Amino acid sequence: MKIIESVSAMQAFAYKTRRQGHTIGFVPTMGALHEGHASLVHRARLENDVVVVSIFVNPLQFGPKEDFRKYPRTAARDLALLKAEKADVVFVPTVQSMYPAGFATRIRVPSLDAILEGASRPGHFQGVATVVLKLFNMVQPTRAYFGEKDYQQVRVIRRMIDDLNCSVRLVACPTVREPDGLAISSRNRYLSKKEREEAVKIHQVLFLGRELVSEKIMLDSRQLIRRLSQILAKIPGSKIDYIEVVDPETLEPMQKIRRPAILAAAVRIGKTRLIDNIIIS
Ligand code: AMP
Repeated sequence: MKIIESVSAMQAFAYKTRRQGHTIGFVPTMGALHEGHASLVHRARLENDVVVVSIFVNPLQFGPKEDFRKYPRTAARDLALLKAEKADVVFVPTVQSMYPAGFATRIRVPSLDAILEGASRPGHFQGVATVVLKLFNMVQPTRAYFGEKDYQQVRVIRRMIDDLNCSVRLVACPTVREPDGLAISSRNRYLSKKEREEAVKIHQVLFLGRELVSEKIMLDSRQLIRRLSQILAKIPGSKIDYIEVVDPETLEPMQKIRRPAILAAAVRIGKTRLIDNIIIS
């Protein structure tokens, strides 16, 4: 497994690989890798000749009061996981090389980036779209792998790929969960034991929402959200950032649930902000 730190070396490797006719599967990450990331690398390994994984904690996608500084950095463990998953290249650029002095360009997808996560985290998707486009230009991937856990991110990146004619195919992969249903996240490690026990309720509530809709018990999203919010509010120290039923494509709120929709939630438990979503129909 090759570790590449410089942007120019990454680009040179990518051009050479593509010129040789090989496909490149790319998994962008912020490190602190877990089974969710491993599932993306595994899929990329199955579908491509060469697998590149980037590890870059992107300052541009963190708000001023967010956890950029304390975001977990676990380089040695990450490399061991990637070796086990048979990644070919780990790309670990520095902040300085990604955003040298004078860096000014931003990519925005206005119709999708100010709602849900974007409303709670202004500027977040601008930071994501900008870094992902830069990484695409460096890695030249044939396919790029993203997790459905970050559903809105998938929508934003798909839109950007289509709008800007990026020659990469986005592959969205299912959310990997703990045995009790909690979506695996690098931020789960911030939870205390008690908070971790309570956190499973986020998934339980989404699951309940899906049941209530599929059994046609509640097809009005306002009524459904009220019911689910009451349960979430009982988690000690919790604060609901949002829980919404939205259209899978446009992410517009859906009132009457008569066709497939996404039920998405962001909940703070203590100091930890967790997100999850589920498809309902
Ligand atoms: P991150 O390192 O959190 O930026 O995540 C890198 C990629 O891994 C993103 O495409 C995430 O959606 C994906 N990912 C994170 N957690 C999971 C999970 N539990 N299951 C599947 N994919 C995930």
